[in-house]
Amino acid sequence: MAEQSHTVDYGRMTAIINCMGDGVIATDVSGIINYMNSSAEQITGWQQQEALGRELTAVFSLFHAETNEPLPLPLQEIMAAGEPMGLMPETMLRCRDGSGKYLSASCASIRDARGKVSGAVIVFRDITRRKKAEEQLLKAKEAAEAANRAKSEFLANMSHEIRTPINGIIGMIDLTLLTPLNSEQRDNLLTAKKCADSLLLIINDILDFSKIEAGKMKIEAVPFNLRELLGEIMKTHGVSAQKKGLKLKKRLDASVPVFLIGDPTRLRQVIDNLVNNAIKFTEQGHVTLSVQKTGERDGKVHLQFAVSDTGIGIERHMMGKLFQSFSQVDSSTTRKFGGTGLGLVISKQLVEKMGGSIWAHSEPGMGSTFAFSLPFLPAEKSVLPKEQEPVKLFKVSRPRTILVVEDDRVNQEVLARLLKERGHRVDVADNGLEALAMHAANAYDLILMDIQMPQMDGIEAAARIRERERGGRHTPIVALTAFALQGDRERFLSLGMDEYLPKPIRMEELYAMVDRVLSTGRQAAFRGHVSLNADGELVVTDNKEGAITELAAHLPELEALLVKLQEACAECDLERTELYAHKMKELFFTLEAEELKYAMFKIELAARRGNSNDTALLLSRFQDLFATYKKVLCNRREGICVF
Ligand code: ADP
Repeated sequence: MAEQSHTVDYGRMTAIINCMGDGVIATDVSGIINYMNSSAEQITGWQQQEALGRELTAVFSLFHAETNEPLPLPLQEIMAAGEPMGLMPETMLRCRDGSGKYLSASCASIRDARGKVSGAVIVFRDITRRKKAEEQLLKAKEAAEAANRAKSEFLANMSHEIRTPINGIIGMIDLTLLTPLNSEQRDNLLTAKKCADSLLLIINDILDFSKIEAGKMKIEAVPFNLRELLGEIMKTHGVSAQKKGLKLKKRLDASVPVFLIGDPTRLRQVIDNLVNNAIKFTEQGHVTLSVQKTGERDGKVHLQFAVSDTGIGIERHMMGKLFQSFSQVDSSTTRKFGGTGLGLVISKQLVEKMGGSIWAHSEPGMGSTFAFSLPFLPAEKSVLPKEQEPVKLFKVSRPRTILVVEDDRVNQEVLARLLKERGHRVDVADNGLEALAMHAANAYDLILMDIQMPQMDGIEAAARIRERERGGRHTPIVALTAFALQGDRERFLSLGMDEYLPKPIRMEELYAMVDRVLSTGRQAAFRGHVSLNADGELVVTDNKEGAITELAAHLPELEALLVKLQEACAECDLERTELYAHKMKELFFTLEAEELKYAMFKIELAARRGNSNDTALLLSRFQDLFATYKKVLCNRREGICVF
């Protein structure tokens, strides 16, 4: 520094360096401090007079933020290096008073006019505040993530806990519906089933994190009968209102159209929630649901729904809390009335998604009115979907032996009874271990496998069965699970299951699935029209013979794609493998060749998972399958059997 004073204006340089917010310390070649600016004094706590002439390490002592270990400053290296060097991010400075400060610093050698090293300079900045803020931010982020994980786990567990009993309820209702009933009993049971169904729909919504968090809740636009819907809603709540001695009234303005296009499930969910609350918070008087038309704009009918009650009401200063996540206006109401504090939030989200708005008026002690307005397109009666035929029970012509693996007694009974009603023989295992033993001792045509079980879960049991069967007989396994989240089906298929049935099991779905899996007798349940049966014959369902011609016509295109797929797979280019597998899968989808589509889908998934061994194995299996199809397609006159 002193030498340079002849060539540059020393006074000006000193003034500039002294004004800098960054600390500057310079040393001679042996590491003795010969310069220090005011910021360096402030940061280190050392006065210039005391620091000058001392060893750098005495004033500028560094240590590791986490381990507290001293960090030597490599002065010799700094002086030898041509370029400035920085410090590690976790470096801290021990100040004179013993406190620690985070530093960001750069160090460089000082050279004289001839280029000879005459010392080192360190320019440093106190970044403690920034670091602390970053740390706090990180902590807050981690805490938020942990809370979010806990929420997800809670919801996933809750799903299981809730779905299992609902499974029982729906199963028992289905079974009772199969018995002789008078019309009132049947009506009541159908209403009970609708309630259980709507409960499930709500649970599905709450569970579907991706949907809620990303605001991707889908709103349907289907024709529905508003009057019927409101009638069903009133009926659902009739019993609980009656129990409390409340009058439940419905006022439907004559101008309100009967047939609309919208999302009846979501509309029902909102009204259900408001009526539920109204009944919950009213001890005497009435709860009224009224609907009126408020106008017509852009071809849409605007309706206003209002649920009013003569209940406890809500304090004025509490009104602002309504419609906020997990907020109950008064925590004592939770104890008294129960509830999650989610109902109004979900209602608000749904109403807004449907293009409307929701609000509330209340008078403490007098009652509350929750109202929302929604636009609907009018619908013609003729476009309404036909009422679903109730399931008719008929015995299968060929009873099969089915193993039900399920730990919950009620579910066991429901499943076993439903299958027996159909004429099948049923064995029951309580867990995966028992299932393994029973599979070893008996030849089953089908195994229905619950996933979450004590001792051994369904995934492991299925894997062991597949291992045991390697190269031999293939027993179709259908996974049963309450963990019905997006992507589950693919997960189960990739784990060696043939199909997947979400809980609660519905009778219609169970029968359809069992029929499909048993009728193909092959790996999966195929919904398409062209597949091979166990004897290697081409099977066409629904008289869709045209599907075979279509498949044959696309053989050249399929073969060309297969060559590309094989090349990509041979080169271990999983991205391209996935791409071609996807293309072929889409083509099979259009051609209604489910079995081939399914096999290709497995390849696509394996490639996506990044598992090249599985991809290659599945591709070689696909090639065999495809070769059989080609052979049969070529001699199809002998091969076709139509049913
Ligand atoms: P919860 O599951 O707790 O009912 P909601 O979001 O549906 O959750 O309601 C939030 C809170 O709003 C309730 O806990 C209650 O304090 C208040 N509230 C909702 N509806 C009414 C009503 N009709 N009368 C009085 N208070 C109500």
